[in-house]
Amino acid sequence: MTKSKFAKLQEKLVIKQSSAWNNFNEKQRQTIFSFCEKYKEFLNEAKTEREATEVIIKTAKAKGFKELDSFENLNPGDSFFYNNKNKSVVLGIIGEEPEFNMTGSHIDSPRLDLKPRPFYEDGNLALLKTHYYGGIKKHQWFETPLAIHGIVMDKNGKKREIRVGENEDEPVFVISDLLPHIDRKSDNKTVRDAFEAENLNVIIGNIPIVKEEGLKEKIKLGILSILNEKYGITEGDFISAEIELVPATKARDVGFDRALIAAYGQDDKSCSYATLKAFLNSENKKRTRFAFFYDKEEIGSTGNTGAASQLMERVVEIVLRKRNSKKTVNEVISKSIVLSADVTSGFDPTFAGSFDARNVNKIGGGVAVEKYTGSGGKYGASDANAEYVSFITRLLNENDICWQAGEIGKVDEGGGGTIAYMIAKYGCDVIDIGPPVLGMHSPSEIISKVDIYSAFLAYKAFFNVTNNEITPG
Ligand code: MN
Ligand code: MN
Repeated sequence: MTKSKFAKLQEKLVIKQSSAWNNFNEKQRQTIFSFCEKYKEFLNEAKTEREATEVIIKTAKAKGFKELDSFENLNPGDSFFYNNKNKSVVLGIIGEEPEFNMTGSHIDSPRLDLKPRPFYEDGNLALLKTHYYGGIKKHQWFETPLAIHGIVMDKNGKKREIRVGENEDEPVFVISDLLPHIDRKSDNKTVRDAFEAENLNVIIGNIPIVKEEGLKEKIKLGILSILNEKYGITEGDFISAEIELVPATKARDVGFDRALIAAYGQDDKSCSYATLKAFLNSENKKRTRFAFFYDKEEIGSTGNTGAASQLMERVVEIVLRKRNSKKTVNEVISKSIVLSADVTSGFDPTFAGSFDARNVNKIGGGVAVEKYTGSGGKYGASDANAEYVSFITRLLNENDICWQAGEIGKVDEGGGGTIAYMIAKYGCDVIDIGPPVLGMHSPSEIISKVDIYSAFLAYKAFFNVTNNEITPG
């Protein structure tokens, strides 16, 4: 059948959006599925920023990467890692030019942290007080089996690692919710008020250490005794600790067609994993490549491990010094190109009213390119320049990568930020790009396998860029 003049016109003038799955044949889909098997292993292994840092360094070392400090001089082809306090990490491969192609993702995810003095006993139970980390919907964390991950520094300054609740034969920890039978009071409350932060108390024990009369808090003492026996720690040591409660569940396939993955921490471990894989599979003799894996994004990129710290300047400065370059840090960064590799919200048909249906990113629609994030009025947005958006989308088109463009949700419904604006302040071009997610920040975030794979292809194409002329003549 010949196409009508207007069918041809439509093809030429109107944005086409279809499922990214249509772009892959059966054999290619198998590649996507095996890519995602490894991705699920990463999700299960690296639930916290410390664990992700460890896995990333281990992976890089296996590929021959060496600690940055161990290089006296850096030459093209040299590959290094920079461990920033065991909570954020940078990988680098030196090119002929010091100007770089860089991705920045984050390896922290919303969760519950322990308070400095978390232990108490009440109603025949030993419990832990928590302080939530990042933007969570608190009700989702009640009645979810939790695992305990983290470190405790003992009184001699020795680091003790704790990881309980991941193996089938280990106990889990649970925050109880009130039974519906006697919860009438909640009927007139907002969700926010019905699920109080101070009620996020985790059950950890029930057996008193001894029958002996006169002793106080014998169940709590029993738990402290178990911990002391196993890790050599005391209650006071938890003041110098970083203990996180994360969902004990493992990454699982979703759907009869197994097209999706439900797992904790896909914001932003999906991008961390995809950038790591893309970085290690990229080739670029000309330009230097960096993959940054940041901590603290979920609480504003603060602290000495977040993107608002001077980690990027420090690494670039060390690299320039070790390659005897006369160029300044600012000069080099301003001529570099960056992808803020972070997830965005996927359109959820059940909650369609919270989205602008004409500007959504669909699950299975490919990697999402976001010119700006921020909230109502573009507040706090980096807002990539049109020239750079064009540069990136042309790159995606040239490499036949499925992508889409949209916003996180309705303009005045809220919003979200990424690290983009913290990197853009140095003058480099930055844009957000990553897979769309359903149920972001929940214990069971959902992502489409084709979207994370498209993100991987996009990051790889980006690392391979040798000519970063944003506005060719
Ligand atoms: Mn994120
Ligand atoms: Mn987030």
